[in-house]
Amino acid sequence: MASSLFEKLAQTQRLPSPSATAMRVLQMADQENVSINEVADTLISDPALSARLLKYANSPLVGARAAVTSIRHAVTLLGLRAVKVTALSFSLVSNRDASRCPRFKFDLFWAHAAAIASAARYLVSRTCPSLQEEAFVVGLLSRIGKLVMATGLPAEYDALLEKVGSVMRSAVEDERAALTTDHVELGAELLGRWRLPALLVDAVRNQNAPDRTTDRASRLLAGAVKDAQAIADVLCGLDAAPSERVRAIVSDEQLAEVSAQFREIAGMLDISLKDLPDPGELEDRAKHLLAELSLATHAENETIRAEKKSIEEEKQQLEKRALVDSLTNVGNRAAFDRQLAAEWARAERYHNSLSLLMLDLDRFKSLNDTYGHVAGDEVLRAAAECMAGVIRASDFLARYGGEEFAVIATETDVEAAVQLAERIRVAVAARTVRHADQVLRMTVSIGVISRSGPLAQVTPAQFIAAADKQLYRAKRAGRNRCFAAKLDAPAALRT
Ligand code: GH3
Ligand code: MG
Ligand code: MG
Repeated sequence: MASSLFEKLAQTQRLPSPSATAMRVLQMADQENVSINEVADTLISDPALSARLLKYANSPLVGARAAVTSIRHAVTLLGLRAVKVTALSFSLVSNRDASRCPRFKFDLFWAHAAAIASAARYLVSRTCPSLQEEAFVVGLLSRIGKLVMATGLPAEYDALLEKVGSVMRSAVEDERAALTTDHVELGAELLGRWRLPALLVDAVRNQNAPDRTTDRASRLLAGAVKDAQAIADVLCGLDAAPSERVRAIVSDEQLAEVSAQFREIAGMLDISLKDLPDPGELEDRAKHLLAELSLATHAENETIRAEKKSIEEEKQQLEKRALVDSLTNVGNRAAFDRQLAAEWARAERYHNSLSLLMLDLDRFKSLNDTYGHVAGDEVLRAAAECMAGVIRASDFLARYGGEEFAVIATETDVEAAVQLAERIRVAVAARTVRHADQVLRMTVSIGVISRSGPLAQVTPAQFIAAADKQLYRAKRAGRNRCFAAKLDAPAALRT
């Protein structure tokens, strides 16, 4: 299990660690009656850390009315609660020793982290300003588990990075398959070990499924970080252009604003942005190859045509692979986002009905805990296969994340969607999986949402949230059941 693996890693003494000063500040801030002067005096003993905090306090982000010239002033301005976690995360950015995991690019890792932090802070500053410093820290540390893998499991993680291409692309699913754990779990364990406030640990733990946490503040932070990660992928050039999902979160102007803040924060933390891929670089490379081929003097000769074809095929295969979930072979999250955006636009244009099913396996954690992750993975594969077997050719199935799936059913009204959901539910419950000498069973809870006419002002993200709401009702009502709503009913949108 992840935590015993974490304990093993902890014993190697190679976990990332904040500076001693930052740790001391963290502990001090937990004591009652600690004075601002005491905290400031401790911080001053670490000049590099003090310099970063001062820069931060003076940046337009914090928006101090006058220049902040002393650490004491910075602590007063930011507040003790913010200072302790900010100091901790700032001190971590110096952690740069990964000689044993050469493919782990520190600047790239921290650049991505800074992008998530900037975006999370930006989003939360608009919805709940009192939590914006926390959002920044949760964003910055949301992927610290990758650093844990780079330092604790360097050879294994290096091999994974070779496969996925970049630290920014190392996803929970890939990590689980290769290392039996993932950066989200490891990150949350690490932060728990440092005794960071439960709010932050909880937000990091639930960053991929904010609804899983019942605490409102940590759900807000986790949700902001999830959205911030999508934005960060654009800021860091991972996604060539903002996806529908990102567009639903921020406008182009806001994106530009976040981008400027990201650059500022990166500068403040001495993070180099030179390794960031150029947006569209991959596409350019493929085009360049094709252009070279067509320029060749014997452009028409058979061998070149064959080469062109194989490059084209390889490109198509790569594109296809980028949209398929490697564990279950159904569409992945990126494919889902893309498909939903396309179907959404179609439904808007032609006023077709459109339904979305969100499916979450029941009590899956306990299945993992009882039989292990390998068994869990087999069950996930079987569930996907079972779902794929009962949906229609025009329906689109994707793994939404973890043990959650989604089905997009086009030209399907709520009654038909409920029938579809019931078919899936019954088929999944009837399916058995043999693992070692055990026979495993599973059930699934399903939330259905349908739209049947034009729906100006509603976004796909709200559609997903409305389906999630029904899913949540199904869970609360006892699981292994399906709840549905129509989006034209305004209540379906309220959370
Ligand atoms: P609920 O009925 O409320 O949905 O309970 P649950 O246990 O399914 O809910 P929860 O969301 O807390 O747990 C989901 C678990 O799914 C957590 C994680 O251990 C497991 N999981 C997520 N992704 C994978 C995966 O790729 N492989 C395996 N084996 N387990 C996974
Ligand atoms: Mg779940
Ligand atoms: Mg579940």
